[in-house]
Amino acid sequence: LFGRPWIFIRGVPSMNFLPPEGPPEIAFAGRSNVGKSSLINALVAHKGLARTSNTPGRTQELNYFVPDGFSGEADDLPPMALVDMPGYGYAQAPKENVDAWTKLVFDYLRGRATLKRVYVLIDSRHGIKKNDDEVLSLLDKAAISYQIVLTKTDKIKDPAVPKLMAETLEKIKKHPAAFPEVLATSSEKASGLDELRRAIEVAITQ
Ligand code: GDP
Repeated sequence: LFGRPWIFIRGVPSMNFLPPEGPPEIAFAGRSNVGKSSLINALVAHKGLARTSNTPGRTQELNYFVPDGFSGEADDLPPMALVDMPGYGYAQAPKENVDAWTKLVFDYLRGRATLKRVYVLIDSRHGIKKNDDEVLSLLDKAAISYQIVLTKTDKIKDPAVPKLMAETLEKIKKHPAAFPEVLATSSEKASGLDELRRAIEVAITQ
């Protein structure tokens, strides 16, 4: 699944633009700059797939990626889709943007039967912030299974990683829809990627 080329198929600014439900979907959420594009690119080993940018808070779209080589016709659907959700928590974002984000994301989460899991990315240096916690509560409310993925672990000292994983696990215990295991990754060092790929492969069969 991850050993083949992936392609971008569409950006979805509102529910009307969603592709018809078909393959199982795995979505990625996280604060702007958490390393979401880098992680998606690293997962599928395709550098420019999800745009990596330092201007956070711009695209308010769900971006769909699928493995290449499928026509998308009913008898030739890709085995899964990755959905890059717009980043949140950009300090300068006007209220309209925050409201638009919440509406798009909540509509999608509530209405998408083929969505199997959301991976919520948390920067290892920052841990779970207030707006992350709000997103987790939104996911609880939508009753969508989600799992926490720590990013940029190369930015903290090695012994701090298991400690942060344990602390994070403790913090998500109050969240009913959280998967009780935290993953740790670094796109820079390509660590934790296989664990995440394996978790995704299991999640799409559930
Ligand atoms: P996004 O806004 O969540 O899509 O974040 P990006 O993927 O664009 O990354 C934001 C910044 O963090 C960029 O400068 C990346 O180079 C950097 N970054 C992303 N992943 C890693 C990582 O694993 N390690 C380090 N050291 N930097 C990273």
